[in-house]
Amino acid sequence: MKVLTIIGARPQFIKAAAVSRAFRKHGSFSEVIVHTGQHFDANMSDIFFDELEIPHPHYNLGIGGGTHGENTGRMIEAIEKVMLEEKPDWTLVYGDTDSTLAGAIAAVKLHIPLVHVEAGLRSFNNRMPEETNRKLTDHVSTLLLVPNLVAVANLEAEGITGPRVINVGDVMYDAALIFSAKAERDSRILESLGVAPKRYILATVHRQENTDHPARLSSILQAFAKACQPVLLPLHPRTRQRIAKQGLEVPANVRIIDPVGYLDMVMLEKNASLIATDSGGVQKEAYFHHVPCVTLRDETEWTELVELGWNRLASPGAENFLSAFTVIPPAGRLDAQPYGNGNAAEQIVDVIASFHH
Ligand code: UDP
Repeated sequence: MKVLTIIGARPQFIKAAAVSRAFRKHGSFSEVIVHTGQHFDANMSDIFFDELEIPHPHYNLGIGGGTHGENTGRMIEAIEKVMLEEKPDWTLVYGDTDSTLAGAIAAVKLHIPLVHVEAGLRSFNNRMPEETNRKLTDHVSTLLLVPNLVAVANLEAEGITGPRVINVGDVMYDAALIFSAKAERDSRILESLGVAPKRYILATVHRQENTDHPARLSSILQAFAKACQPVLLPLHPRTRQRIAKQGLEVPANVRIIDPVGYLDMVMLEKNASLIATDSGGVQKEAYFHHVPCVTLRDETEWTELVELGWNRLASPGAENFLSAFTVIPPAGRLDAQPYGNGNAAEQIVDVIASFHH
C-alpha cells in the first residue's frame, strides 16, 4: 500500500519520525515523503531528518517564505502534480500547518483517501491560522486519528463521529519515549551551553499572535526580565526577525540561542526548572518530562494539562503577566494517561492497513 506523507514544518518532522519507523516495521507499506519546504533552515529541517532517521523526502517542493495564501495555493498545485504522478492509496497529513491544509485539499479533490493525524484539536480562537487549517482538514478527512478524549468530543460537537474517528493517543508521546535515551546518550547541549540542571527556565516563542503583536512580544520579554532564574530561549527565526524589526531590547538574563535539534531540545526540557512556551508540542513535552509549564497564550488546545496542574495559562500583555515567572510553580498530578501508552504510531499504521473506505 502506498502512502503519500505531506510534511513541511518542524513539529511534523518529529511526528513523522515515529510513524515512518512504524511503517517500515509493518513491512507492507511504501511511504513517499513530500517536504513542502515550509521550514527550510538547516536547524529547522535537515537536522531532524538526520537525527531522527527520517527517510530523505522523495520530493522537496521548496515552497516557503510567502504569505499563508501564497504558500497554501502554491503547495496545493505542486502536491497535486505529485499525487497524479504517484497515485497513492492514502495521503497522510499531520497537525495544523499550511502544509496540512494544502495536502488535504489536493487529496480530497483527487478522491484520494485522507488520514489526519492529530485531528480534533481546537483552540476556539478563529484568528489563529492553525485553527482554520485543522478545522478544514478535519472536515474533509476520511480517517481522523486523534490524540486524546478532548479531541473526540470536539469532533462530536461538529457532527464528526463514527468509526472514522479513532483515539490512537499522541504520537509526540511516542517520539518522547523513542528518542529520550538517545538524547541522554548523544546530546552535549548542557555542557556546551554551560547550564546546570534545574537552574534555568527554558522558553520558546513563535506563535503569530505573539510574534506579530509588538505589545505582546515586548510584554513577554519584560516578564522574562523579572524571572527568578536565567531564561534560555532557542529562538524561532520568525521571532528573531520580529524582535529586531520592532527594536525590542533583550533583557540581560535572557540568553537567545539558535533553534536546536530535537535531541538537544529534549535534554533542555528535561533539565529545565520551568518551561515557558507558546508551542503546542513543547507544552506536552513539559508534561512528558515532568516539568511545570507556563503557556504564553490566552487559551490552549491541551486543556487536560491545565486540569492536571502541569500547565498554567498566562496571557502576554495582561496586568498580572509580568509576574508569571517570579516563582517556579509546583508539579502537577501524574495519575492520568491522557495521551495513550506511547504506541500511537503503531496504531496509526495498523488502522490505515485495515481501514476499508
Ligand atoms: N523543538 C526543537 N528545537 C527547538 C524548539 C522546538 O526540536 O529549538 C521541537 C520541540 O521539542 C517540539 C517541536 O519542536 O517537539 C515543537 O514544534 P513547534 O514549537 O515549532 O510547533 P508546535 O508544536 O507549536 O506546532
